[in-house]
Amino acid sequence: MASTNRSTLTVGGIKVEVVRKDIKNLHLGVYPPHGRVRIAVPMHIDDEAARLAVVNKLSWLKKQIAAFARQPRLSDPDAVSGESWYVFGQRYRLLVVTTKGKPEVRKPTKSRLELHVPSRCKKDIRLTVLDRWYRKQLREAAEPLLAKWESKIGVKAEFWGVKRMKTKWGSCNHETSRVWLNSELAKKPIECLEYIVVHELIHLREPSHDDNFVKLMDKYLPNWQSLRDILNSTPLAHEDWQY
Ligand SMILES: [Zn+2]
Repeated sequence: MASTNRSTLTVGGIKVEVVRKDIKNLHLGVYPPHGRVRIAVPMHIDDEAARLAVVNKLSWLKKQIAAFARQPRLSDPDAVSGESWYVFGQRYRLLVVTTKGKPEVRKPTKSRLELHVPSRCKKDIRLTVLDRWYRKQLREAAEPLLAKWESKIGVKAEFWGVKRMKTKWGSCNHETSRVWLNSELAKKPIECLEYIVVHELIHLREPSHDDNFVKLMDKYLPNWQSLRDILNSTPLAHEDWQY
């Protein structure tokens, strides 16, 4: 198997992922969905040489990134009938139903998500009811995955929870063994949740993202990089997430 190694540079305020592998030429690319910059270089090229190569292409790079920034974004949801909402990667059409009872969310068919709320219910209440439901879905899906991977990896999270996070899919405190999962994961394919669970649990053994961390990820979840790409490319979020 060809070996690769990764590092990160910041050039002119732009974060650049450097991937060293068994190739002859340098490849500089800007990738969807948000203009991630990556340079692939031959094994013998050091960070300084890679930096110089990026500097030489800086004006081209800035143009590409600006083009990405101009692309239209998904608008914020209003939680009204007809909107598309995703549950574990599956697309549903939302139907808002008036109820005299308790607000609730139902999934009566494979393509319909029903939001039952009192008549003239305000938008922020509708979004809150949905948010609460998504958190519950995520907790229920994450629990068996955490148990499965804790025993495989040989670690134990002292605490785990679900919350909304702006910039991360998950987080892990190595000292206190606490793991948080982003509630937005309930909208992504379940394999992506599994990837984040494995990622955070491996942090209990290896706090940084160094070579050892990558080695452990490769060992336990060999396809983790394609799962990460799915997570960061499916146009399901309504904000910009990075991981
Ligand atoms: Zn991490």
